[in-house]
Amino acid sequence: MTAVLELDSLDAGYGRAAVVRGLDLRVESGQVVALLGANGAGKTTTLLTISGLLRPISGDVRFRDRSIVGVSPDRLARDGLCHVPDDRGLFPGLTVSDHLDLVRASSSDRALVDDWFPALAPLSGRRSGLLSGGEQQMLALALAMVRRPAVMLVDELSLGLAPMVAASLMPTIRRLADEHGCGVLVVEQHADLVLSVADRAALLVHGELTLEGPAQVVRREHAAMVAGYLGSVTDAPTAADPGPA
Ligand code: ATP
Repeated sequence: MTAVLELDSLDAGYGRAAVVRGLDLRVESGQVVALLGANGAGKTTTLLTISGLLRPISGDVRFRDRSIVGVSPDRLARDGLCHVPDDRGLFPGLTVSDHLDLVRASSSDRALVDDWFPALAPLSGRRSGLLSGGEQQMLALALAMVRRPAVMLVDELSLGLAPMVAASLMPTIRRLADEHGCGVLVVEQHADLVLSVADRAALLVHGELTLEGPAQVVRREHAAMVAGYLGSVTDAPTAADPGPA
């Protein structure tokens, strides 16, 4: 299979300081790839660089087999590379329906949104600032979906959501890949949530790719790594038990 999105030895960051180093990653059409990592690992920086908001320090980003380094974010969005940012990118004073107008949603697009997100239908006149976190995330996904993207970048779907709400949105990601053939790159701190719907996963630690492979393999190895960290924390001296004098 050919990759719809490919990162090749990507160094990315702010100014000349690379926070992501030597990243190789590929996403195929119809595939969900999870990019995992702790706070500050470089996940958001990677997405900002793919969507043209940051210029790579070095290396290449390829979309549908052509380099997109230097292409503007709005051009990329029009060409089918959509970014759902962690703040969801909504206008609090605009209603659900206003947002759909902004992306020029046709009546069939609106029917599609109603089908995928029935909970939004009765809220069409509500300002997005008054929606719950889960409803805002549905709207952000709906707005991206209406563009029929070839690639969707989703930054921290679960941010600010109750775990049950976040889990209920994960199948939407899978459905986008399965039914629309979209290649989805999802950034997520909560590995278990996204690994349940991902095909492949990659783990960034301090900006470097530490683990990459089929989601189930990464799930096992990630769990072992977490257990390792917790083990070392448990074994570490604490204020109550400072260890041998
Ligand atoms: P989080 O979930 O906390 O956002 P992340 O993996 O997405 O984590 P990034 O936001 O990519 O991490 O941040 C990676 C590093 O880049 C961090 O050390 C962060 O402090 C730094 N950083 C982020 N934004 C900027 C900026 N605008 N200028 C300089 N450094 C930044």
